[in-house]
Amino acid sequence: MQGLTSGGYTVSSFFNAVHLVVAKALPSNRSLAEYIAIVILLGKLIARLFEHMSTPSTADSLNSHKFPVPLISTSISILACLLCTPDWTLSPLSRATVGFSLTGEKKRKAKLMKERRLNLPSLGLIEAREGINWDVGNCAEPEVFAHMGSMYQNLGNDAQTAHADGAWKRLSVCLTLNLKEGKDEHTMPMKGKPLCKYCRELVENVSKDMCCQTLDMAFLDEESP
Ligand SMILES: [Zn+2]
Repeated sequence: MQGLTSGGYTVSSFFNAVHLVVAKALPSNRSLAEYIAIVILLGKLIARLFEHMSTPSTADSLNSHKFPVPLISTSISILACLLCTPDWTLSPLSRATVGFSLTGEKKRKAKLMKERRLNLPSLGLIEAREGINWDVGNCAEPEVFAHMGSMYQNLGNDAQTAHADGAWKRLSVCLTLNLKEGKDEHTMPMKGKPLCKYCRELVENVSKDMCCQTLDMAFLDEESP
């Protein structure tokens, strides 16, 4: 897969396939609002699809077709990379990609996490902590941050083509949303998931390496003190 450090990406689930298609299909140089609208529409669509597929049916004959819940990603994440002028005014130059949290049993996840570490070496530097009941690299964020380097490289090429000077500032915006919704929630705004401790450390390291500022938009969902 173009844009990843290893060039490799294993498609072993519906969500891996959607990541691959969306990473290729997302348009370039669109506004942050358009990228956010795309991820919300995609997230709502997937949440509805899997809520329907995993709901127990009263008809026994249909129960056997129920989708196994552990194979459903719990979160979707979007990372938008934007170029700004020295006074932080947004330019029209931007890229974005969408990713998902890992699913499945431990052995399968371990294989995919190894691939994630190859594609995002900073991930290998994050140490597991007591009291956190998920593994480093399991979240949706590592899948999108693995594309940050190539997105800024492509943006740099665009800026050169536009004969713009090199005084751009880099601003990255990340938003992770909860994909697990019940019926009543489908008509409500999607719930944001602030970065976990692992992802916060990862984002800090990657942003430093890429010389960019990164904003977690899910903080907007946090309740005021
Ligand atoms: Zn996380």
